[in-house]
Amino acid sequence: QACNPGDLDICEQLGRGAYGIVHKMVHRATGTVMAVKRFPLTLDTNEKKRNFMDLDVSMRSGSCPNAVKFFGAMIEEGEVWICMELMDLSMDRLYSIAQSNQYDISEHFIKKLAFSIVTALKFLKTQLSVIHRDVKPSNILVNRAGEIKICDYGVSGYLENSLAMTRVGCKFYMSPERIDPPEGCRGFGIKSDVWSFGITLIEVATCAYPYDQWKDPFHQIKQVVNGPPPTIPDGKYSPELQQFVAVCLQKQVEHRANYDQLLAHPFLLDHESIDDNSITSFVCTMIDLNKKPKSGS
Ligand code: ADP
Ligand code: MG
Repeated sequence: QACNPGDLDICEQLGRGAYGIVHKMVHRATGTVMAVKRFPLTLDTNEKKRNFMDLDVSMRSGSCPNAVKFFGAMIEEGEVWICMELMDLSMDRLYSIAQSNQYDISEHFIKKLAFSIVTALKFLKTQLSVIHRDVKPSNILVNRAGEIKICDYGVSGYLENSLAMTRVGCKFYMSPERIDPPEGCRGFGIKSDVWSFGITLIEVATCAYPYDQWKDPFHQIKQVVNGPPPTIPDGKYSPELQQFVAVCLQKQVEHRANYDQLLAHPFLLDHESIDDNSITSFVCTMIDLNKKPKSGS
């Protein structure tokens, strides 16, 4: 059935990105709650293409349990509204809340995150022939059921950079070959997502973006292209997780793991041993802490 922006009640703002604002909204007639991303229609052609892709891909992704569901899109008064499944917290917020409240990010949590996202990325690739292109902590969302899902897979195919501008500097999740393509090798390969995923895992596990984000962007690019790949430091996590991240962050594309190899890696082989209840309760604790006013005391 048809739905207009006027049928929706706008609730709180969930976040803001480079392209627009995300609000929680309620469809008045049915009580359906959703997340709605709004952005102006005055985008250049590339960005419009990107957003069409967003719709096209999103509409076909319904059967993947680890991809945020797409409800529909509306255009009104120079704005596009993209309606999707409401989630409770993004991974960038989750780890900073955990860190500032002295909670540990457990190995089991990283295992569940890794299994969920590798499964989703493999689904996008094999079922939809889609490369995500914007894998980063803010595009991985959790809900109170303890589910971990990828969103914004619409960037696939069009947006030319996965560069997150934040108040504290900028973060690159781009693979070395994407920044500096080798001779005769243009375009973007599926394994660039594996690199971004590896950076994302280190960032969530260590609660810190693994490159120096305070330096200028050119310095960062040099670090990615010329420096050694980041690693998970010894101590807190198992050698299996360290190796898992290491096979994601191979600078040579041909040495980097693909999704089947990642699913068969010792780190994920025992994913069925994950205690879902403890993960769900951890996630709910983080969501509740996020809701509390920050000033406290
Ligand atoms: P970015 O991903 O770069 O942060 P976005 O515009 O995609 O920018 O999203 C802005 C923020 O809105 C995200 O960081 C996230 O916290 C929140 N958000 C996005 N989609 C949803 C959703 N479906 N449910 C809940 N929160 C969301
Ligand atoms: Mg996003």
